[in-house]
Amino acid sequence: MAKIAINIATGSLQQPEIIVGIDLGTTNSLVSIIHPDTKKPIALKEHDSSSLVPSVVHFGEAGAITVGEEAKKYLITEPHNTVFSAKRLMGKSYKDISDNASFFSYKVIDDGTDNLVKVQVGDKFYSPIDLSSFILKELKHRAEHILKTPVNKAVITVPAYFNDAQRQATRDAGKLAGLDVLRIVNEPTAASLAYGLGLNKEAEKTIAVYDLGGGTFDISILKITNGIFEVLSTNGDTYLGGDDMDNAIVKYWLQQSGVSEDELKQNKELTQAIRLKAEEAKKHLSLNDTFTAELNGDALSITRADFEQLIHPLVDKTLACCKNALKDAGLKTSDIDAIVMVGGSTRVPAVKNTISNFFGKPVNDSVNPDEVVALGAAIQADILAGNNKDVLLLDITPLSLGIETAGGLMDVLIPRNSKIPNKVGRQYTTQVDGQDSMRISVYQGERDLVQHNRKLAEFNLTGIPGMPAGMPKVEVSFLINADGILVVKAKELRSGVEQSIEVKSQYGLTDAEVEQMLMDSIAHAKEDIATRALVEARTEGEQLLQTTERFIQKNAAHLTKEEMMETAGAMQALQLAITMEDKNLIQTKIEALNDISRPYAERIMDIAVSSAMKGKTI
Ligand code: ADP
Ligand code: MG
Repeated sequence: MAKIAINIATGSLQQPEIIVGIDLGTTNSLVSIIHPDTKKPIALKEHDSSSLVPSVVHFGEAGAITVGEEAKKYLITEPHNTVFSAKRLMGKSYKDISDNASFFSYKVIDDGTDNLVKVQVGDKFYSPIDLSSFILKELKHRAEHILKTPVNKAVITVPAYFNDAQRQATRDAGKLAGLDVLRIVNEPTAASLAYGLGLNKEAEKTIAVYDLGGGTFDISILKITNGIFEVLSTNGDTYLGGDDMDNAIVKYWLQQSGVSEDELKQNKELTQAIRLKAEEAKKHLSLNDTFTAELNGDALSITRADFEQLIHPLVDKTLACCKNALKDAGLKTSDIDAIVMVGGSTRVPAVKNTISNFFGKPVNDSVNPDEVVALGAAIQADILAGNNKDVLLLDITPLSLGIETAGGLMDVLIPRNSKIPNKVGRQYTTQVDGQDSMRISVYQGERDLVQHNRKLAEFNLTGIPGMPAGMPKVEVSFLINADGILVVKAKELRSGVEQSIEVKSQYGLTDAEVEQMLMDSIAHAKEDIATRALVEARTEGEQLLQTTERFIQKNAAHLTKEEMMETAGAMQALQLAITMEDKNLIQTKIEALNDISRPYAERIMDIAVSSAMKGKTI
């Protein structure tokens, strides 16, 4: 029984809101929901037909647009009017795809610019967003037809490596199809969710998601901590998949019958027919040892052993990608807790076995690999709808929060992925004698220099009583409440002066922006570490110059002329080093200055101590 809610204010019936999960694939797309009774995710399909909608759009005469199985029939016979693999064009310019231009048998406009590509069909132009929106519209209609209720909200999945532009393009396609896209979710994350990985908040797990589809291969290494998914690395081949297996079978048959590829090309109908037979053979061999069929009176056959031989190089290529992904994540095969199989092509037993052998453990393949991503998207949608209270994927800080410290460094108070609500405090002090105010600048991001992060707010703590540098104790505290509102407070503990500011909730970032900031921090990690070290060395050097100068002014009478000269020289050398980019040089000069001042500093300390003792009896 589905629950019916009544709005008490208006007395109207409230339909329980449906949020669908959509896998917008390169080869196939599908839509799924959480079944209202069983609470289990299911892929939507009409009667006995497949849940898969081929991601193919056909433009017929008089402007008729068909999508899916119907459109797929025209792939070979009407290549100019039949668009496949539109996902490959999402967020791309012609330059981006020019190396693979021959892959597209329809017309992709080469305008020689960095602008987003368009596809020309007849005298009309379509953007990849338009093309994807046709597929999404078909999925929306399918869902509405099956569920008999309007469907306006969706979660859509994208590959983990999709950049900002590609994610935004996917969102826009959803909007164009009349869908409010609540979340863009990474495909490997969705697949893991479908296996229940990450739903148990306690467990920390490292997962490899192996996705071999029709024309693309992706391997992603994920880390799940407290229900939070982090992509450690991705690798793959954007032109490797089940289609290559089909082509290998076609070639094998041509060789056997002595027909050349050029000869076959002449006959489009035959090309189409033989490709479909090859795909049929491949699928048949996933469950059987031999395949035999007839095409135009000729016998076609292939054994599983022959097929495995044919695809051996292809499977090897995917292994190489797996190795790279592990290397990038800094992991060994034994560090992987679970391997999730995604994509129709992982049904091939040789693929499964090879991957299982490589990782040294059985793979997760109990969920239908064509549907697993969409099923996971439905689970994510259900979480967003607030139906699954066990998982609170939202209640974390997406990026680190901190303040600017000396030299423009980011000092993180609340690291990213921290639980909300949260409260953290840390003490800071002044850098200059008599400093009576302190600027508190609040930033969000993962980079070491605040200039690369995002400024959220800024305020001045004023009225700090005059004290020598380093004496005031300023406690800065960050408090994020359950609504995600951040309150930053600064208080000078000796005097009690304080000041606070409230930062707007949500921090105004889209998922894509957050993702981009994370990607940037990974991309720049090395140089950031180097910059931080340099800035820290400079700050240390500057502080040493200040204290040395103060010390000399106060104790000039106790220093020899030689010591004065030497100190001045070492100070000058340090001053110069600070202006240069070499952290080691700065450190060397700091040590040199310390070596010179240490002997007289100790001597002067002794004088101070003995004069303090004078006249005192112990
Ligand atoms: P994508 O994610 O790229 O849209 P899919 O995950 O839907 O692609 O995978 C489609 C590929 O899976 C096709 O090449 C199809 O032939 C292949 N495939 C589907 N079922 C089987 C099977 N039983 N055995 C082998 N390959 C299969
Ligand atoms: Mg896929």
